[in-house]
Amino acid sequence: MRSVDEALDAILSGVRPSGVETLSLDRCVGRVLATFRITAAVDVPPFDNSSMDGFALRAANAPGRLRLAGEIVAGSAVLPRVEAGAAVRIMTGAPMPPGADSVAPLEVADEADGAISVPPVELGAHVRRAGHDTRAGELVELPAEPIGPPTLAVLASLGIGQVEVRRRPRVAIMSTGDELRAPGEALEPGQIHDANSAALAAAVDQAGGQALRLPLTPDDPGQIEQQVRAAVAVADLLVVSGGVSVGRHDHVRGVIERLGTLDFWRIRVQPGKPLAYGAVDDMPVIGLPGNPVSALVTYELFARPLIRRMLGLTGSGRLTLPAVARDRMTKDPERRAYLRVRVERGAGGLEAHSAGGQASSQLRSLASANALLVVAEGEPAAEPGGTYDALLLGEIG
Ligand code: AMP
Ligand code: MG
Repeated sequence: MRSVDEALDAILSGVRPSGVETLSLDRCVGRVLATFRITAAVDVPPFDNSSMDGFALRAANAPGRLRLAGEIVAGSAVLPRVEAGAAVRIMTGAPMPPGADSVAPLEVADEADGAISVPPVELGAHVRRAGHDTRAGELVELPAEPIGPPTLAVLASLGIGQVEVRRRPRVAIMSTGDELRAPGEALEPGQIHDANSAALAAAVDQAGGQALRLPLTPDDPGQIEQQVRAAVAVADLLVVSGGVSVGRHDHVRGVIERLGTLDFWRIRVQPGKPLAYGAVDDMPVIGLPGNPVSALVTYELFARPLIRRMLGLTGSGRLTLPAVARDRMTKDPERRAYLRVRVERGAGGLEAHSAGGQASSQLRSLASANALLVVAEGEPAAEPGGTYDALLLGEIG
């Protein structure tokens, strides 16, 4: 049996980043830049400008009474020259006029009869220099994470209207099992609703991939093979749930072995255990256990980092923080457990309460959980008062 870390290393080795496409900025949120370093073509701001509504003047003329000689609004191209003994009314963001070196804010100036009285003004006061945020030619390092609103603002301020981003990896989702029916359909005896397809497809989208749902596939080698071939034609990755175990009707492994290459592991993880990993015609395939709790947790641990790696990102993109367990939660001592907990702020830091039943058939506790509490191999339980890593999945109230 492999540890979680060994399995993840094996899955991530040899992943190729997905290709790139060019998109306009307004379609880029959540996408990943093809390169995180961009050479600025322009100064930001492009010209010296006022950071206040006030009066542009020469610091050497203050304190004193200065004649008002015009007005400059933001966007002005025509700038009156500021002579000695004079000042020009200026708005925030308006270009500094020639002859002026400083700005006295409106609040400190007394205006009367076409003139102002100003107190002493520091040289350069309230002037934003051209390039003080970014200089033309500067190498701008952008965060290696999905693009958020601030990065969009930086790109826009640099005058960039279109960027190269990674193509979202196309991830085919295939749920297998004779017993499965789509949610919304009536069940015949022995059947259950497919809880995995919608959830895994959504998880793929959240990781930055593009989910492609294949039809529900019965435990039939011929039909599984047909769907795997369909996936090869359209997808960069295939995520299968169910049918990867060692039962007589678990055919996913055999099909992948026949069409490509397969590693099959039992992983020392709870929930989860059997995991198939392989490739068909260069398309990686991950086979998750069918049980929805196991499928979603092993997706989180293995498939999500794989999709992120394809996008050129590292890690899981999740925050892990120490949390003190408030309930006793037993586990299999042979495996690393990811216990479903609700993490809350406590007096001394985060506190983790059990989110409900921890059996892998108890799905609702996964929906109630906002974190997975990681309890190491060798430990029989999470003990109240003990501190553990909490892998944060959701919001903390
Ligand atoms: P398997 O991995 O195929 O052995 O399935 C393990 C358990 O998970 C069985 O109880 C299946 O009925 C159940 N299961 C498999 N796939 C799904 C699914 N898509 N939705 C809900 N339960 C499933
Ligand atoms: Mg099955």
